[in-house]
Amino acid sequence: MQTQIVHAICIRAEDSGENDKICTLYTAQSGKKRVKLRGVKKAAARLKYAAQPFCFGAYTLQETKSGVALVTGCTPYESFFDLTADPMRYYAGSCMLESLSAIATEVSNPALFKYTVECLSELGFSESDPNAVCLFYQLGLLRLCGYGITAEDTCSYCHAPLDLTVRFYFDSLSFCCPLCGVGKHVDYDAYRTVRLVDTLSKENLKNFKLSKDGAEGALRLMGNIIYKITGVTLRALQTFLVMQA
Ligand SMILES: [Zn+2]
Repeated sequence: MQTQIVHAICIRAEDSGENDKICTLYTAQSGKKRVKLRGVKKAAARLKYAAQPFCFGAYTLQETKSGVALVTGCTPYESFFDLTADPMRYYAGSCMLESLSAIATEVSNPALFKYTVECLSELGFSESDPNAVCLFYQLGLLRLCGYGITAEDTCSYCHAPLDLTVRFYFDSLSFCCPLCGVGKHVDYDAYRTVRLVDTLSKENLKNFKLSKDGAEGALRLMGNIIYKITGVTLRALQTFLVMQA
């Protein structure tokens, strides 16, 4: 059977049988890919780390008849495991990986791969606000997958200025006024936060701290948007929101 080496981040892991794991890798070469790691639930397993979310490395894959490739080796690069030591960073990162897992496809998207590595580095190796990094990542992820959000200062339908009452219309992924009335009510703080983070560059992100209310509302909205697009509920988001209190 054919083998290949892929640059990948482990974004999801599930138990399979007594000792194995089925993982979802996000690869530079072919987008999302389901793989199997044998025996990695045993304490001394050689590839244990490779079956954990946030592992970033060169995975050696062996194709199998079942269609789920077997991981036979993994050379780790700079790993993102450090961020698991801080609960806020861990849950922000988990939200990012779950969002990626929900939205990404099995098609190569080199820009998204690079962006994911950069944002995880930002989360893991800087003092940046975890809320801001998570929101920044989700907005970019949507944009790079063709679901860019329109966050103007006016209603996307009648172009009236948006003041304290704002709605988000999921079909057009844009904010609108209550008179146009085609969307879900969004807190003004959440709208302003999304709009602000959407205009940030990664360099600006470093010195940026979101307000508590703005961050909570904006992250909740991102969870709703991802659910509307994919039908996937972000499990880590619930815990991340509870931890904000
Ligand atoms: Zn309007």
